[in-house]
Amino acid sequence: MQVRITVSFPYEAPVSQSLFDRASAVTPGGVNSPVRAFRAVGGTPRFMVSGTGPYLTDADGREYVDLVCSWGPMILGHSHPEVIAAVQDAVARGTSFGTPGAGEVELAEEIVARIEPVEQVRLVSSGTEATMSAIRLARGFTGRPKVVKFAGCYHGHVDALLAAAGSGVATFGLPDTPGVTGAQAGDTIVLPYNDIEAVRAAFAAHPGEIACVITEASPGNMGVVPPLPGFNQGLKDLCAGNGALYISDEVMTGFRVSKAGWYGIDGVRPDLMTFGKVMGGGFPAAAFGGRADVMAHLAPAGPVYQAGTLSGNPVATAAGVAQLRLLDDAAYEKVDAVSAEVRGLVAAALAKEGVAHRLQVAGNMFSVFFTDTEVTDYDAAKAQESFRFTAFFHSMLSQGVYLPPSAFESWFLSTAHDTAAVERIAAALPGAARAAAGATA
Ligand code: PLP
Repeated sequence: MQVRITVSFPYEAPVSQSLFDRASAVTPGGVNSPVRAFRAVGGTPRFMVSGTGPYLTDADGREYVDLVCSWGPMILGHSHPEVIAAVQDAVARGTSFGTPGAGEVELAEEIVARIEPVEQVRLVSSGTEATMSAIRLARGFTGRPKVVKFAGCYHGHVDALLAAAGSGVATFGLPDTPGVTGAQAGDTIVLPYNDIEAVRAAFAAHPGEIACVITEASPGNMGVVPPLPGFNQGLKDLCAGNGALYISDEVMTGFRVSKAGWYGIDGVRPDLMTFGKVMGGGFPAAAFGGRADVMAHLAPAGPVYQAGTLSGNPVATAAGVAQLRLLDDAAYEKVDAVSAEVRGLVAAALAKEGVAHRLQVAGNMFSVFFTDTEVTDYDAAKAQESFRFTAFFHSMLSQGVYLPPSAFESWFLSTAHDTAAVERIAAALPGAARAAAGATA
């Protein structure tokens, strides 16, 4: 996609640039996950060398207040001493055994204790694996082929779920992706988000064929677009009434927006749920779980196959357990409060410059849409003036604040974002708001 940049890059990052040049020679696009390449905003992606609390330091020695938090996981900030100690302790005992271990039992118990609808859980290594396995299980359990998903919701790069996906697919405006065959996507029904009548119509059009509806519990991958009141309950009821499973993807919201994730906020009980990000404490750990009678269909208890060489890895589970145990009510109150404070500052700065914007919020997750109308679905998200975000982003970056390099992503805070970090954000905002106001398409 051609991106027209309306800002100049007055600051340089020569070491990052040279790393990016080397990376581009040996890795497609120079990155291992597309949004990191800065293509939506232009400029040199920053190669980070360390993180402490709310700050990241790049290879050129510049420090940034981090409002990405590794896309959600670092809810305690970077290098939290207790998480690091747990990891060091685990590493000293070995890095992978390929056998069951105590750490995975502790992590599973922690998840089951926090999230009431999760009676049993299976650990995997990425959110993609979690959603892929959950829909396989739903198909195996129901004996039905079709999956309903929503435009703008991202569930990882699962073939069947890449149709009209958010996140990087939204960032680059890709309609779909080459490499996914008609057969792989043919049983996926993509519907507009927040449109319960469309879901009702799909069940009517495909009686006895829909295995599951999968939705982000509260979407954050087209920017933050929360479910309208009653939408998730409507999904649950339609699934229950039609013999399908309701799968709530909490890879992003799980353990982030409350102790029990989005379920802790809306209380709609899914049949299956998926998790990742926060539960791994910065390591590759993810999970899917839910009703015990459904989970009983998984191998070796049942016939639906699923496995992983590094699933339940001892270092990852140690990090996850340590992080979750530190996430008590006080921790969530802290993240909620600093998120509200930063939102207030962003809104005030943009309003002062007369920039049309909307802050959309899901617990402590939020994003800024450059539009003055409410965004309730993917089409509305895409209609925003994202060229203003580009200018805003680069101004913040040049002043030492690291935002997600895309207008279609959530911003993330942590318990480590203290007064000093908020003051740095506050100091950068007036210039960024002016840049957004002056941007042209
Ligand atoms: N589901 C949701 C809601 C996500 O936000 C993501 C990643 O951003 C995934 C699934 C995929 O997770 P992973 O990147 O760990 O494969």
